[in-house]
Amino acid sequence: MTYTAHNFVTHLECGLTGEHYPAGQVHQLSAAGRPLLVRYDLAAVREVLTRDILASRPATLWKWRELLPLADYDNRIELGEVATPILPLARTATRLGVERLWVKDEGRLPTGSFKARGLAMALSMAKEFGITRIAMPTNGNAGAAAAAYAAAAGIETVIFAPEETPEINIREIAALGARVYRVNGQIDDCGKLVAAGRETQGWFDLSTLKEPYRIEGKKTMGLELVEQMGWRVPDVIFYPTGGGTGLIGMWKAFAELEAIGLIGPERPRMIAVQAEGCAPIVRAFDSGERHAVRWDDPATVACGIRVPQAVGDFLILDAVRESGGFAIAVSDAAIEAAVDSVARDDGTLLCPEGGATLAAYEKALALGLVQPDEEALLFNCATGLKYPLADHSRTLDRHQPIDWSAI
Ligand SMILES: *Cc1c(COP(=O)(O)O)cnc(C)c1O
Repeated sequence: MTYTAHNFVTHLECGLTGEHYPAGQVHQLSAAGRPLLVRYDLAAVREVLTRDILASRPATLWKWRELLPLADYDNRIELGEVATPILPLARTATRLGVERLWVKDEGRLPTGSFKARGLAMALSMAKEFGITRIAMPTNGNAGAAAAAYAAAAGIETVIFAPEETPEINIREIAALGARVYRVNGQIDDCGKLVAAGRETQGWFDLSTLKEPYRIEGKKTMGLELVEQMGWRVPDVIFYPTGGGTGLIGMWKAFAELEAIGLIGPERPRMIAVQAEGCAPIVRAFDSGERHAVRWDDPATVACGIRVPQAVGDFLILDAVRESGGFAIAVSDAAIEAAVDSVARDDGTLLCPEGGATLAAYEKALALGLVQPDEEALLFNCATGLKYPLADHSRTLDRHQPIDWSAI
């Protein structure tokens, strides 16, 4: 199939003020210091993008090209962005007395996390704009995805990571050719270093939501899950929320799908899941605020959601509230128990952030916030293999007599 080099972007828009910005230019935050959202000529997309055409294309995020920002499709950087499977958690569901419990396993993507979706788009756009040097803060997975796509694009990369970032992430980032620094601070402290370097070194700042295109890549989770479910949405989506790109992106995806006539007005309730040791969005949700105050001394094993302050806080909170959803925090103990039980019961090794979504689902069920007959979709955002695993192994001395009955 040939693709005509035509894109449908009309402009960008400040997520807070609605102020318009022209497409085809390099952007970071809006003048109000808030995220920019890409807008498309959805009436025109509606004319060309049908369910049949989508079904005829390979199952990668690039099948959604009419709803993606590249002006020239040939600038895309592909590392094999597969459509990730939606798996039933059958035995977990039986244990909980529910019927329709699914997990979308994003650990199958390049670099083992869904950060690949956002960074595939951000780096493809950086390449299109001729950007040669980028920098970003990371809790691990974003830095690895950035390094991978930047390597493929020939873009120089500097990464700052909190010193408590999992070792495997730091090494992965370095192996992929980026310069990576361990910093004695949190991810927002690392973000300040990037901002300072942007001033003095002319780096392009690839921080979460500080450039407009990562969200467009993350949006494909929403597009993809609707197509996979047979052009339906689940009743509830549990999303582990750090910077919130994925939640904001999916909410945008559903609106775009409705505007192009591929779904109706039905929406899932969006549930923002955080850890008790870092829950700024939950606190803001509970107190009815539209912006979240920074969470001091954040601590959780789920480092992907150890984000004390999010520049898109209001976009997360708006989406959660509009959807009729809620924000909920879970303990590290509950996260670890969830990871453990899904691995043993259903054969899928969740990352801690993915475990947090199951822990939150169980808590919400117990509180009556979600009903057992509702269809629930959890997000596992990275492969569990990227995290330190508990050692439950035993040793065996093959030179000694073996007590077979004890094995
Ligand atoms: C980044 C990350 C998250 C949080 O994603 P956001 O869309 O930025 O909120 C959750 N889980 C994992 C594994 C991550 O790497």
